[in-house]
Amino acid sequence: MPDTIAYNQYVEQPFQTTVCDRVTFDGIGLHSGRFVELSICPAPANTGIKFRRIDIDARLQTVHAHAKFAEQARLCTRVVNNDGIGLETIEHMMAAFAGVGLDNAIVEINAPEAPILDGSSQPVLDALHGVGLELLPARRKYILVTKPVVVSLDDGSWARLEPCDHLELDIEIEFEDAAIGNQSLRYRHQDGSFAAELASARTFCQWRDVELMKNAGLALGGSLDNALVVDGGKILNDGGLRMEREFVRHKALDCLGDLLLLGMPVKTKMTAYRPGHALSTKLVQALLSDPSAYKIVEAGTTQSRSDSYVLPEMAAAATA
Ligand SMILES: [Zn+2]
Repeated sequence: MPDTIAYNQYVEQPFQTTVCDRVTFDGIGLHSGRFVELSICPAPANTGIKFRRIDIDARLQTVHAHAKFAEQARLCTRVVNNDGIGLETIEHMMAAFAGVGLDNAIVEINAPEAPILDGSSQPVLDALHGVGLELLPARRKYILVTKPVVVSLDDGSWARLEPCDHLELDIEIEFEDAAIGNQSLRYRHQDGSFAAELASARTFCQWRDVELMKNAGLALGGSLDNALVVDGGKILNDGGLRMEREFVRHKALDCLGDLLLLGMPVKTKMTAYRPGHALSTKLVQALLSDPSAYKIVEAGTTQSRSDSYVLPEMAAAATA
């Protein structure tokens, strides 16, 4: 096998990954409007994604990015540890991790909210591409969905997971404003697909919601620099959309990030109608609460292509 693989080939290979080195960036929090600094640091196999709130006492500061610790929040994804220390708006970073195939990292952050950056996953993806990923000498574990799981919310939104031999999303949204309207997207997660199809899609809102959110103390850092804003059938941002159906692509990005709350990659077909973070958090929690609906498999045991990626130390261990 090659010593290194191309930066966009970590999704489908069977070994766990981490970042080659620490990578740091900063920006403002969407809801708090506060300046935030964040570092993504290497971590050993089977760590998963863990956040470390470095503004908090060391004994309390670790928060695992896992469905067990996720709270159903309407406007963002939030995880909270047993001491009540939390981090919110993690979804676009989590989407970048899932998108690029990053399994293990410690994310150090000095605030209770991740920076919104440009409202998409592109800045995090660029940072990960810049620092590079490395393969760890441990096979990935996957969650395989073995029977359908369905959840819904009172607002009419619903989502379903069903068995599939790869990860696929089928997302539909419906908004009153004609600038968004009804959009749907099918996305198959594979090497390079996230960067090409989802990563740069920005979060969005309607102009009339901006003032409501600000009056409620939310989205204080929100601006046309970090969200698509629509009003009366028009997009208010200079330059308009980055790509066609940017709105539903962003919803698919959010779903991909929330699925990583399963703690490992998943193979399933997710279908969702008008998804949001409360819905997708409920979905991953519903799956994990029913052990008959999934099994955990080690990568490579069912994939013949894995042999071409055996690490030298793994091959040595196998023949020892
Ligand atoms: Zn989002």
